[in-house]
Amino acid sequence: MTATQTGSSNPHRTPVPEFDAIIIGAGIAGLYQLHRLRKLGFNVRAFEAGSGVGGTWYWNRYPGARFDSESYSYAYSFSQELLDEWNWKEHFAPQPETLEYLNFVADRLDLKRDIEFNARIEAATFSEADNRWEVVTESGERAVAQFLITAVGVLSAPYIPDIPGRDTFTGASWHTAHWPHEPVDFRDKRVGVIGSGATAVQLITEVAKSVGHLTVFQRTANYCIPLNNREITADEQANLHARSGDIFEQCRHSFGAFIHDFDPRSAFDVDDAEREAIYEQLYREPGFGFWLGNFHDIMTDEKANATIAEFVRRKIRERVRDPELAEKLTPRDHHFGTKRVPLESGYYEVYNQPNVTLVDLKETPIECITETGVRTSKQEYEFDVLIFATGFDAVTGALTRMDIRGEGGQLLRDKWRDGPLTYLGLQIAGFPNLFTVVGAHNAANFCNIPRCIEQNVDWVTDCIAHLRDHKLRRIAATESAEREWQQHCEEVVSGTLFPTANSWFMGANIPGKKRMFLAYGGGLPRYREKCDDVAARGYAGFALE
Ligand code: NAP
Repeated sequence: MTATQTGSSNPHRTPVPEFDAIIIGAGIAGLYQLHRLRKLGFNVRAFEAGSGVGGTWYWNRYPGARFDSESYSYAYSFSQELLDEWNWKEHFAPQPETLEYLNFVADRLDLKRDIEFNARIEAATFSEADNRWEVVTESGERAVAQFLITAVGVLSAPYIPDIPGRDTFTGASWHTAHWPHEPVDFRDKRVGVIGSGATAVQLITEVAKSVGHLTVFQRTANYCIPLNNREITADEQANLHARSGDIFEQCRHSFGAFIHDFDPRSAFDVDDAEREAIYEQLYREPGFGFWLGNFHDIMTDEKANATIAEFVRRKIRERVRDPELAEKLTPRDHHFGTKRVPLESGYYEVYNQPNVTLVDLKETPIECITETGVRTSKQEYEFDVLIFATGFDAVTGALTRMDIRGEGGQLLRDKWRDGPLTYLGLQIAGFPNLFTVVGAHNAANFCNIPRCIEQNVDWVTDCIAHLRDHKLRRIAATESAEREWQQHCEEVVSGTLFPTANSWFMGANIPGKKRMFLAYGGGLPRYREKCDDVAARGYAGFALE
């Protein structure tokens, strides 16, 4: 491949730097992609909107932010040296520790010299004449490369609902993903939080520890389950290091790449007493075991699901003292696990505090945001701080917010108006030489994400190396392969309960967004098999030139 060159077809324009590959994003995926391609001798540049590395863990600095994956299952697995050098302090690391870890990796691999920070890509255009992509940053900087790899994350396009008066509030206000870098003091403050998803659950629990008064605006109650986090002891640390290979191997074979995997038994293979004892046991264990280590049919059979949903409802009633409040916090409009299950560390007990108020938006909807707070159909609430924990335009938003133009000048957001179409969640017909790491209809969207990122990046890297070795300049998914992948994705998820919920998995959290399962519902092992099979058959379903 070519070394760095500069040049331009227009002599009056500043020369545009040329690379073999451009990566958008320097989060977990972008960093690993940069490392892999650079190791193979490619000339690569990454563009990152933030002022530092970390992606999700750079942006989401809200109080209480931490992993829901076991720390030691979340680290990069590709380098034994990195694994040996890093000690996680807690079983589920908080955001500052994760950001520190990603900086440690970036520094150890000397990645930052090839990353342009504070450089948000606004547009990317494919040139059919020379099979290259040109990207433009918000400040007008340009660069050209044969390959464009988006590593923009699943949950990176923050969503703030279009509530009347949204911008009129004069106090401090943030979306959780645009949290300030300086600590925020909540003492003696009146704080309002809109939202009750996984982010809000972490944030609320932490803010409630010091707040003057906290008001939570909840539209939909969730099934929250205990995280059961704690510090890693010295003995555990040694054991985790010794077993790291086994841990990653276990993740490699589990559905969601977690250390947990579904129990092959049905919820009805055991009697009521045994089932109850199993649920009790799982409820006390750390992490997602209660969801992803449970009977396999809780995600496919409504009756099996009802047994676990009822168990969680009972737990909520036991933990919240006021029965009316407990009822408001109890989900009844969706099946357990069909929306991402929030993991909590004392969330329900927060509502036993006298300085915490829950506003049920199903009873009293928000009418508008005012200069001083929030007005519902019943009353006005005044705040010093108003927090939007209102989620993301997930999976597709970060891509469709950019002007990505493929063959014939087609805009990606136009192509995806009726929902995303991809091949393997990694390429898009009509957009040659563009790879979407962690793209739509990719296992990575329902995954212990670094595990899926490593799979995605390894596949993309092998593909690009294959093109170089065979002196090929262009790879493009065919429309028929894309259609077949789409059908396969629909078939896989149709056997589950996921499509029944108004979740971000279904695109249903964004008004007007096409309702469609945005991930790959067949799990990582099956997904990997599909990807490997395509590569083994000479990149079947792709046109190579
Ligand atoms: P979310 O799950 O989409 O939750 C958004 C919340 O905002 C919901 O309660 C939603 O209510 C509410 N909302 C949206 N529009 C509203 C409106 N117009 N009026 C009132 N309420 C409104 O977003 P999130 O909590 O940021 O979580 C997103 C994902 O991030 C999670 O599912 C998870 O995958 C990831 N996450 C991961 C971690 C971790 O790994 N530790 C932590 C946090 C988040 P409805 O439910 O009624 O729509």
